[in-house]
Amino acid sequence: MKTKKVRIGNIYIGGGEPVRVQSMTKTKTADWKSTVNQIRKLQVLGCEIIRVAVPDMNSAKVLSKIKKNIKIPLVADIHFDWRLAVEAINQGVDKIRINPGNIGSRENVEKIIIAAKKKKVAIRVGVNAGSLKILKKSDSWTKMSTKERAYQMVKELLENIKIIEEMNFSDIVVSLKANDVPTTILANELYSKRRKYPIHLGITEAGTEFSGIIKSAAAFGVLLNQGIGDTIRVSLTALPDEEIKTGWEILKTLGLRKRGIEIISCPTCGRCQTDLIKIVHQLEKQITNYPPRIRQLADGARPRQRFSGGQITNSPLKVAVMGCVVNGPGEARDADIGIAGGKGFGLLFKKGKVIKKIPQNKWVVEIIKEIKNSQYKSVLESV
Ligand code: SF4
Repeated sequence: MKTKKVRIGNIYIGGGEPVRVQSMTKTKTADWKSTVNQIRKLQVLGCEIIRVAVPDMNSAKVLSKIKKNIKIPLVADIHFDWRLAVEAINQGVDKIRINPGNIGSRENVEKIIIAAKKKKVAIRVGVNAGSLKILKKSDSWTKMSTKERAYQMVKELLENIKIIEEMNFSDIVVSLKANDVPTTILANELYSKRRKYPIHLGITEAGTEFSGIIKSAAAFGVLLNQGIGDTIRVSLTALPDEEIKTGWEILKTLGLRKRGIEIISCPTCGRCQTDLIKIVHQLEKQITNYPPRIRQLADGARPRQRFSGGQITNSPLKVAVMGCVVNGPGEARDADIGIAGGKGFGLLFKKGKVIKKIPQNKWVVEIIKEIKNSQYKSVLESV
């Protein structure tokens, strides 16, 4: 769905731009050196927008130092205190995330909008189910249906947007997050029919890697496949690295972005005559440990495009590792580089043709050798 295009530092969100992958730092923001180090690692992994918590003035005062030492847009996450928001804007952040409902008086919100307008800084208006006004008034939330919850979230978001619009400000990004998937999906669907400000997708308090990845993939899959969502954050009780890797994987799986090397491997079964699980994990580790420039090579950054049938080739290089002759040759032939297993050996395919037979203890080495000889060669040499 076509949304308004909003500039966030050196990139855009919405209006047909690629769905952006973002994360939030987990360091103390006031410890700006540690924060910069964490952001730099995330940049390498493909983080496109980074948000930092600004809980106090010490954190707000170091934002310009953080900004100077990173390459991606910086977003300040602020609650309750308008002074922190104004300071963050003056420090040069590219976007602020506020919930006008908890900033206090309209006068205080106005001070933030005036500063944002002056510096041309976008504002994300975020509504989280956990901080809805209705929760403060009653315990009715627990008794509400998914539909009622979603309507309540959208209602509060629209009220917040109205406050900002009345001040003639429209560089707005929105978010509607709940910790349960059906409410998040419905709230975003309802909002998308009402307004055109770009949407940041997320599930709050999604949990650890296991449950968080499943919840995020389920919610984002449903929404993104309808064209709802302009940027995503996979919130995990884990290192932010995992949030970025998962975010990219979700977008690649949906055919919305392309990036890196894609491994296709079979689940193995009683027909498999090699230690395929171990081999594939070794291969994945080696690919992950490649120099940064290889891993981040060739992000498609293409206009959003829907899967319309046929094979999705959304990764610059596809590597298939298959256990036996049932599906092995077909998948291996279809990939850029592939191996179809036999009894202790495998047939190595390159661009659909068998090039040699190799013992299983050489599979990883041979695949890596072929990757190095592929389109990545020139980049490898320059690293
Ligand atoms: S490719 Fe062969 S070993 Fe792998 S799951 Fe299929 S049948 Fe089993």
